[in-house]
This record gives sequence, C-alpha cells and structure tokens, in this order.
Amino acid sequence: MSHNFNKEQIEKVRNILSKHTDSKLVTHINACVHCGLCGSSCVFYKTFNDPKYIPGKKIDLVASLYKRYNTLLGRIAPSVVHARELTDEMITEMVDLLFGGCTMCGRCVPHCSIGVDIPFIVRTGRRLLAEMNRIPLSLKATADTALAAQNNMGIVEEEFLDTIQWMEEELQDELGDTKAQIPINQENNNVLYTLNPREVKFFPLSISAAAKIFYAAKEQWTISSKMYDVTNYGYFTGDNTTASTIAKNMFDEVLRLKSSTLVLGECGHGSRALRWEAPNFLKQHPDFNIITLIEIIEQYLKEGRIKVDKYLNTQKYTLHDPCNITRNGGLFNSLRYVMQNIVPELIEMTPYGAENFCCGGGGGMLAMSEYNDRRLKVGEIKAEQIRKTDANVVITPCHNCIDQLSQLNHTYKLNVEIKSVAEIVADALVIV
Ligand code: SF4
Ligand code: SF4
Repeated sequence: MSHNFNKEQIEKVRNILSKHTDSKLVTHINACVHCGLCGSSCVFYKTFNDPKYIPGKKIDLVASLYKRYNTLLGRIAPSVVHARELTDEMITEMVDLLFGGCTMCGRCVPHCSIGVDIPFIVRTGRRLLAEMNRIPLSLKATADTALAAQNNMGIVEEEFLDTIQWMEEELQDELGDTKAQIPINQENNNVLYTLNPREVKFFPLSISAAAKIFYAAKEQWTISSKMYDVTNYGYFTGDNTTASTIAKNMFDEVLRLKSSTLVLGECGHGSRALRWEAPNFLKQHPDFNIITLIEIIEQYLKEGRIKVDKYLNTQKYTLHDPCNITRNGGLFNSLRYVMQNIVPELIEMTPYGAENFCCGGGGGMLAMSEYNDRRLKVGEIKAEQIRKTDANVVITPCHNCIDQLSQLNHTYKLNVEIKSVAEIVADALVIV
C-alpha cells in the first residue's frame, strides 16, 4: 500500500530537481522526445527485450517527478503532462530500474537522437533514492565500509601491510634485486599510487606488476597504508556527501604525503569519480596532477623510461574497454597506444572502443547481490563478444570489470584468462 511522503521529503525531491540547483538537469530532462532510439544501445534492453529497460523510460521516472513537483502544470493537472506522485510503488520501481537496471555505462548517450546525458539523470534519480534511504542495502554497506575503514572491503592495515610485504619479496626474487621495493607512506615522492582493494584481497600480483613498472621507470613513488582505495561507491549510491568525503580523504592523503601526482590504479569508476567527478563534488580543483596508470605507462613508453618487448607475450589477446576508461574517460588512444607496445596483436571485440558493451558489472552492480542473476544474464553479451574473438587472454584496466569477467568466464565457460594491463606490461618489460 502507498504511503504519502511528507512535506520534508517532497521538498528534498523538489530541491534536487530544481533548475536553481542544476540547470543541466532540467535541460536534459526536458530534452527527451520519447523516440525510443536509445533502446537497442542498452545491454539491459537487448538482454531482456522489456520496454521498461529502454534508457528513455528510465529517465522518464525522474522526469515525471520533476514535472509533478517542479512545474505549474504538473501541480495542477499532473495527468496532462504525465507527472507522477511520489509513492512507495514509484520508489520501488525507481530502485529496480535506476539501481538494478542501469550500469551508468553511457552507451546510450551517443545513440540518443539529441544527446541526452542519460547516466547523469539516472544518477540524479539515485540521489533522490539516497535521500529517501532507499539505496540497496548491499551497496550502501560497501560505501559505509569505505567510510569507516578507508577501503571498501574493510581490510585492516596489518593485512594490507602483510600482502605488500609478500609482494615486495616476490618482486625482489623475480628481479634479483633487494632494492626493488613497494614503498609505503613515504613523503615527498612524485607518485602516490592507489589500488582497488580487490587487488589486496584477490589479485595481489597486479600490485607487484605495477611495482615492477615503477621500478623499471626509476619512479619515486609510494602507496599509502591509510588511504589507498581508488574506488568511490558514493558515486554509485547517489549520496554526494559520501562521495565527497571519500574523494576528500584521498585528496588529503596526497597532501599529507606531499606527492605531486596521484596515479589512479586500474579501476574505471574510481578513475571517473576521482579524476572527473571529484572537482564537482568538492567544488574545487586539486593542486596536484591526477592521472591513470594507463596514462603514466603511456608516458614512460613515449619518454623511453621503460623498455618493452611485446613478443615476450605469446598468447592471443583481446581487450575489454571499461566504460569509464574509454567511453566516459576518453582514454581510447592512451589504452591502444599501450596495447600496441605490449602485445604482438590485439584482437578487437565487435564492437569495441567507445561503442563497446558494458560487461554488466558497472554502476555498483557487483556490490548489489540482489541483482546477481540479472547481472550475469546481462553479461552474456560481453561473454559472446569475448568468445567470438577466439582470444585466450582478456586484458582490462579495471578490477571491477576483472571481477565480472571472471564470473562470466566461469558462467559461460569461456576458458580464458583475465589480466590487468599492469600484468601484461610487466610481462613485456625488458629491464637492463
Ligand atoms: S547508461 Fe548503459 S545501462 Fe544505463 S540506460 Fe544507458 S545504456 Fe543502459
Ligand atoms: S533516444 Fe534520447 S530522446 Fe529518444 S527516448 Fe532515448 S533518451 Fe529520449
């Protein structure tokens, strides 16, 4: 049964959707002409063939609230303008579609006849749901853990330091050099490097791979044991206070350790949240550089600071473009430049680059266990893309994607290895 939302809650909705708060939002909400052309671009609609998953339908949920509470006609004659009342049913529908039916991958945007920024409106809908305390519990728990423990997996510092020490020993053995280090909490270095906590828990070899690259480049670098988590689940929950706090904690750590460049580890949404969105959350631009690991590897290659022999990599390789690195991050050229230098041949998926399909694990989907079946079903598109390449190694610069691709590998029996870019670069390094 519906309950009436109180004045205070409706006021929050009105404020978030106000043109005084965000003029872009109102422009984009009003721009949609309901043509439906975006439908076939969306992995959810392609998978389930249900009209509710058409991107335009998802943003219509937010638009109908805007019309109801922020326009005169919507207030006096809601049915005329398809304005909808804030009800429990409405909120449940929004949770299902804006959290569980959209990875905020952005593939629909270039397919929209008039360029509506659909993920931006979806995230605004998530902001409304966050205000109503309707963030899916598992996603909220992940963000809360990141706030409490400074990493989203609740890894205690001792465990982190043990893993780093283990990886440092592996690195020294491999290089035959006891001076090869993974420096922790050092001040006044050029680079402060960040990680996805999944690396610490499940993929530590990608940490030693990055360390090997920094070693080869003779970089002055460090990792913080206090604040190393590149992810920002506040970006996905829609809760801007959480998103801002996590971003600020990272920026403060760069200042505390007096590093001049924050290098974002292999994480699509983390890169997006810290590099492109954080200045919006925090309303200030940092005084240090922020770049991704991909870009610093590109620089090292172009400057001759690292030498590679791509023929040391002998498998058949394909690349999964993380949505937030390639389509939404504009790093297509950097990523392809690195690939050209580290593997003899890259078998591209169809389609690839900015047109690539989301793996299905973005938008916080991997953290929302209630949508596991849906996530794996949506990922079948990616699984078939991979199968058609006939590659036996899938490279991707995102540990979130690595997690989803590993599950797709198992579910759809792809029989491939999933590797980070750092691992493939490290395997190609020629250290003189
Ligand atoms: S952002 Fe991606 S998942 Fe969301 S509606 Fe657009 S295409 Fe679909
Ligand atoms: S293509 Fe653009 S204008 Fe058409 S329904 Fe989709 S979002 Fe709306």
